[in-house]
Amino acid sequence: MKIINVPTGKIVTSEFSRGPLEFLSIGDYGQAANIKADFLGLDQPVNGVENGSVMPLSEKWVITISTQYGCSMKCRFCDVPLVGPGKNVSEADILGQILLARELHGEVTHTKRLNLHFARMGEPTFNTAVLDASRYLARKADEFLDLQCDTFHPVLTTMMPKKNGILKGYVQEWVAIKNEDFGGEANIQVSINSTSDDQRDHMYRGSTRTLAEISGIVSGFPAPVGRKYCLNMAMADGYEFDGAKLAGLFNPDHWMVKITPIHVTTSTEANGMKSSGGYDLYDFYAPREDAFKEAGFDTLVFVPSYDEDFGMITCGNAVLSGRMPTIPYTVSHDE
Ligand code: SF4
Repeated sequence: MKIINVPTGKIVTSEFSRGPLEFLSIGDYGQAANIKADFLGLDQPVNGVENGSVMPLSEKWVITISTQYGCSMKCRFCDVPLVGPGKNVSEADILGQILLARELHGEVTHTKRLNLHFARMGEPTFNTAVLDASRYLARKADEFLDLQCDTFHPVLTTMMPKKNGILKGYVQEWVAIKNEDFGGEANIQVSINSTSDDQRDHMYRGSTRTLAEISGIVSGFPAPVGRKYCLNMAMADGYEFDGAKLAGLFNPDHWMVKITPIHVTTSTEANGMKSSGGYDLYDFYAPREDAFKEAGFDTLVFVPSYDEDFGMITCGNAVLSGRMPTIPYTVSHDE
């Protein structure tokens, strides 16, 4: 097991049933440091985020795992396809990654919040083992992890792939897991990134569905229990943000919008994709936030620090692709 220690946590690679996987154990600065969300009472613009210390893991712990070995989607901003085609991990691989991440910090016996993100390598909706593992964790997380969690909150992030015949049933099942098995304490993030289908077709190289098709798939979702379902907007320069168009497709009573910058990866650098000024000033986000708020969406803006982005803990990164953090880091090994 190789552990890459970056300022906000650890990136880990290890061998699993079909080869190497990559997962994260990371801390969080606290909502007030890098979030603006008026609906949560966080109403201060985020003009860059200091490279400070994260909260103790007993306050909040984030574990991000891989659902596939590599990925067969073609997202232009992501380095995971450089690792190889997407082969599904097993349920044991999923639980094994979570357990290894937890064992990195055996000293922690209690946390107020543990977020589990199915968002390192792979498009999770190809893999039903994610559903099986989540149902198990809904019943047994504390016992399985030997960790008392006041809140255990899994999040499934999907690009809504075109070539996935089980997609509709899959996301419906995940929504039942959120609303019923977890009593609302789970979520789905649908990564839209732009309100223009032409831009989306380019950014995903044709591997995802149109917004109208996605709207059709999710229109049957029941009203969310707990947090609203999330439309994720990782916005690069020039991406369209038409709030009225989005509200015509997704019900703002059921869906919120989360805006982030597009992250620094080998692929975004090679393809000239960036969110100019977004790591230093709120100016990049203000018009986008306003557009979605005016359309009726609860809108959350999340700004990472340079430590987080250059430390490769953000979406679209993978050390297995050959890239390494571009800030100081150390490497340790654990057999
Ligand atoms: S963003 Fe997700 S779905 Fe897209 S290529 Fe990367 S890992 Fe695959």
